Amino acid sequence: MGSFGLGQVFLERLRHDDDLLLALKKAFKDNGYTTGFFTAIGAVKRAKIAYYEQGSQAYREIAIPEPAEILSCVGDISQLEEDTAVHAHITLSLSDGTVRGGHLLKGTVIFACEVFGVELKGEALQRGFDAVTGLKLWAYKT
Ligand code: ZN
Repeated sequence: MGSFGLGQVFLERLRHDDDLLLALKKAFKDNGYTTGFFTAIGAVKRAKIAYYEQGSQAYREIAIPEPAEILSCVGDISQLEEDTAVHAHITLSLSDGTVRGGHLLKGTVIFACEVFGVELKGEALQRGFDAVTGLKLWAYKT
């Protein structure tokens, strides 16, 4: 971990029917942006999210098989095993206004989505396995 300079700031409309997690990855990777963060709003046709069970150190998947508004999707971009890694959390509003949310997984299908992305310049931020949490996290600042 460390300090970064501000790189490109971009707005991008993601494509209808694309997978949200993969489209977010593509928005950064295709431009050569290795580190950054984003927010996104829009709507999904259906979603797959997860809740991390800290005791068992496993993700429990939650399917949302209906259209929902993306109230907020926030996340970061770093590198894991020489590939672009997206870590995103999403808050969704269902048709009755109730809210569900969690860790964004593949399997979330875009209805419409607008992304505000920021590239950070500097040494690419790396993820690695953290034995305490069981997660692939950034290293602590030394
Ligand atoms: Zn997460």
